[in-house]
Amino acid sequence: MSGRCRTCGCPVVWARSADGGRAVALNPIPDPHGRVLLEAGRARPATSEELQRPHGWRYTIHEDTCPRCVGAPAPSADSQQTARRSA
Ligand SMILES: [Zn+2]
Repeated sequence: MSGRCRTCGCPVVWARSADGGRAVALNPIPDPHGRVLLEAGRARPATSEELQRPHGWRYTIHEDTCPRCVGAPAPSADSQQTARRSA
């Protein structure tokens, strides 16, 4: 499912994580060095064995590569809470 990143607005592919059904934003262009495999709409981490060999349909997690998303959610949530507490 294609869409846009809620943080930066970049085009992304939304998938469900294979474990908990969490929504995961992936970069829309497959990356042979990516760490995530997309199977039937589910994103799962590639095993260390799979990482050893090239795979045409690996993806990178958008948050890992987007300069505007890297580290953004946690620190901003923290500072907002601190601001609310002190206000
Ligand atoms: Zn983003």
